[in-house]
Amino acid sequence: MDHSSKVLEATAANLAHCAELLRGDEVVGMPTETVYGLAGNALNEVSVRKIFAVKGRPLLDPLIVHFSDLAAAEAHIETNDSVRQLAAAFWPGPLTMIVPKQASIPDLVTAGLPSVAIRVPQHPVFRTILERLDFPLAAPSANPFGYVSPTRASHVAHTLGSRIQAVLDGGACDFGLESTIVDLRNPQVPVILRHGPITQAQINQILQVEVTAHSGASNDTAPQSAPGLLTKHYSPRARVTLLAHGETLTADAALDPGIAVVCNQQPTWHTDQPNIFWLSETGELNEIAHNLFELIQRLDQQDYQQLCIEQAAEEGLGQAINDRLRRAAAKLKAE
Ligand code: AMP
Ligand code: MG
Repeated sequence: MDHSSKVLEATAANLAHCAELLRGDEVVGMPTETVYGLAGNALNEVSVRKIFAVKGRPLLDPLIVHFSDLAAAEAHIETNDSVRQLAAAFWPGPLTMIVPKQASIPDLVTAGLPSVAIRVPQHPVFRTILERLDFPLAAPSANPFGYVSPTRASHVAHTLGSRIQAVLDGGACDFGLESTIVDLRNPQVPVILRHGPITQAQINQILQVEVTAHSGASNDTAPQSAPGLLTKHYSPRARVTLLAHGETLTADAALDPGIAVVCNQQPTWHTDQPNIFWLSETGELNEIAHNLFELIQRLDQQDYQQLCIEQAAEEGLGQAINDRLRRAAAKLKAE
């Protein structure tokens, strides 16, 4: 069924309507600068349960809580100097911090962990809604659990439209990749749990330490300190295989109409084939990130059985892009 009527333009009347839905413990699809989120009252268990149910997300995968500013967040956490420094440098923006929580944050939000993931988003539509509410918003990406994250309101309507009342339209997401997550439970030893738009080098510079990054390998069945770092995630229906950065595809694959080939930039070979796509005119990493999930969603609605995607250069934002690609290509043991 077509659920495009659930997509609401961000007019004053629609913003007021969505704020009212959220006050009534409903969940609403909303734009952020990273990807679209499925938002609900973070302090209310009824709303939080709806978020998990609508996404089909396991309860052991904790949610990020979004605040209007640092002061609002500090009312619900145990803060520290690193939080303040990173907030001053990158908020509002695509950085999530893990910190000890206060009792006001329900255990359901944090999968029972004594810590909470917090962020102050930048998108004007999300900020306007937060400013109208007297509670923070829990908001994971607005996609069925395990699927590619949505970067347009239409992606949300297409996958979750039958289960929610509204998606606010804020256009295409600027970054198109989920936020960077940094664990500050021990502020002396910050750890990057998920690469994203704010790079490791940027965080090092602000904290004046060498921040380490979580290996990414994790146990997919047991609760853990960062339960959401599942090996397989961000996966479209079509099978994903990866090409190394700069690798040229064999003619056989390029000529197979069941395979869509996705390059960083326009390749010098087989460009007349209808199944060859590229993410950027210039090869810039932020353009590649911006277009990646959108192109995957588009190709996944066509008849391709396989998406063969070139990895980015493994530096800066390329680490985040390649992390998502590796998870999209991962197979669970049972598969
Ligand atoms: P998302 O799926 O984009 O909403 O990102 C949420 C991810 O943040 C989770 O899947 C976890 O990996 C991480 N996360 C959230 N809350 C916590 C927490 N309290 N402790 C550790 N990691 C967390
Ligand atoms: Mg997600």
